[in-house]
Parts: sequence; structure tokens; C-alpha cells
Amino acid sequence: MNLGISDKVAVIAAASRGLGRAVALRLAHEGAKIAICARDNAELQKTAQEIRQTAKTDVLALAADLTQAHEIKNFIAQTIAHFKKIDILVTNAGGPLPGKFFDFDDTAWESTFQLTFLSVVRLCREVIPQMQQQEWGRIIHIASTSVKQPIDNLILSNALRLAVIGLAKSLAHEIAPYGITMNTVCPGMIRTQRLEQLLQVGAQMQQISFDEALQQRTAQIPLGRLGRPEELADLIAFLASENARYITGTVIQADGGLVKGVF
Ligand code: NAD
Repeated sequence: MNLGISDKVAVIAAASRGLGRAVALRLAHEGAKIAICARDNAELQKTAQEIRQTAKTDVLALAADLTQAHEIKNFIAQTIAHFKKIDILVTNAGGPLPGKFFDFDDTAWESTFQLTFLSVVRLCREVIPQMQQQEWGRIIHIASTSVKQPIDNLILSNALRLAVIGLAKSLAHEIAPYGITMNTVCPGMIRTQRLEQLLQVGAQMQQISFDEALQQRTAQIPLGRLGRPEELADLIAFLASENARYITGTVIQADGGLVKGVF
């Protein structure tokens, strides 16, 4: 399928590794020009170079902390200055800390609010006006299956990611008249550094080995294995495409069947 995005500019937040990196690579291979950010500049520049070499496309990579409003503003302003437009925005950030209710004080709740929710608000605020002018845009948020089925020991994610869903559903309606779509994707258990860290924490809590924890978690997935980052990227690439023009306001999981509920 030709996704029709070879002349598009795509911004992918938090893309030095893991899911963001896979999405940037996938969109680059479709011919899109790419802007990525992350906090760790060395890892980010390495990823940027890899994308340039394999996909032969223009990649702008700027170090930015997504908890800082001015760094988001600067990242988007520099992207528009460089590419003259933005067509696709993929919001993403580091994952919230694992833990239960009494593990967290107000500081932890507030910093996760900045990272998980306000970063999405701020990215959208900077990018949408430009998409409205050109009357075309695709915005995809990376959330988690925790919005469909809360995950044990991840209360910050379970609570604050639902705010992103509420935002996305409301904002999708506001921007639809401008030809901009907005959808949210929910990865299940996709093998990245983040997932391996969470498995390690789970293994320590249960006093079992990493491999035993991995086996336990995999047994909950009807397709019988963890996902690969490229499998989430495939879904995002479709939602970013011309072909997805009639899909907006949805929340779709890529989880191998992990979520047991109907909706
Ligand atoms: P990861 O740890 O492999 O990668 C996270 C990326 O975010 C890195 O590029 C890191 O540099 C960047 N980052 C972290 N904090 C940042 C900040 N403050 N500012 C800028 N960049 C920052 O994680 P991942 O598995 O790719 O997960 C990405 C997101 O998807 C996370 O929010 C995670 O909770 C969520 N998620 C992942 C899974 C999974 O199975 N991997 C499942 C559900 C949800």
C-alpha cells in the first residue's frame, strides 16, 4: 500500500530509542522528512544518523526535555524553520514510574502530569495552528493499554494516561473541520528498554528471575509473544497516511490480544 506521505514532514517526540525510534524509522522509509527529539543528545544523534543512512531522508534531531515548555516550543519552532511545515505529529515521552498509590507524593504526581499529559498539550498547541493553515494533519498519541485495562503497579500511568484520552477525544472534534485527524494508539507489551525495566521490577517484587517474569507476562498474551516496536510503528504509519483520512477520535491497541475487554 502506498501510504501517500512521501512529501510529508513528521515530528516524533521521544524518539532516540524504543517505540519513538521505530516510528521515526518507519515514516522515514515511507519517504517522510523527520524531526525527532529526546533528552539524551548522544543517543538521539546516533539514531538520527542511522535513519539518514538507511532511509536517505532529511532528519532534524534536537535535544529537548518534554517536561519543559520552552524546550518543546523551541523544538517545534526549529522544525518549522527547517522544513517550513509539519504534517504529522506523534506524541510520545518516557514512561511513568512504576509503583502503587502510597509510593507517590504530590511531586511525583505533578512531574508525571508534566511528562505524560502536559507534553501532549504543549506539542499540540505548537503544531496545530500550522496544520490548520494547510488544512491537513495527522496527530497520533502513544499511550498504553492501561487506558483500557489498568496495569498492576503502574498507578501513575493508569490515572494520567486517561487524561490524554479525554483530551484527544475533545480535541479531535475541534480540529476535524481543518482536515486534521487525531487518534491514540495503545501498545501492549512491546520489547523495549522500558518494558525490560518493568519486567525486572516485577521479577524483583515476586522474587523470581527475569526469564520467569517474561514467561508469566507472555502467557497473558493470546498471540503468545511480546510485540516488536516495528509492529506499533506499522499501525502509526497507517494512521499517519492519506488512507486513514476518515479515522479520527479513536483509541486502538496493538497488544497481541492482551486487553480482554470488548471496548
Ligand atoms: P523507552 O524507554 O525505550 O524510550 C523512551 C524514549 O523517551 C527515549 O527516547 C527517551 O530518551 C525519551 N524520553 C524519556 N523521557 C523524556 C523526556 N522527559 N523528554 C524527552 N524525551 C524523553 O520507552 P518505550 O518502550 O519506547 O516507551 C515509549 C512510551 O510508550 C512510554 O511512555 C511508555 O510508557 C509507553 N508504553 C510502552 C510500552 C511498551 O511495551 N514498550 C507499553 C505501553 C506504553
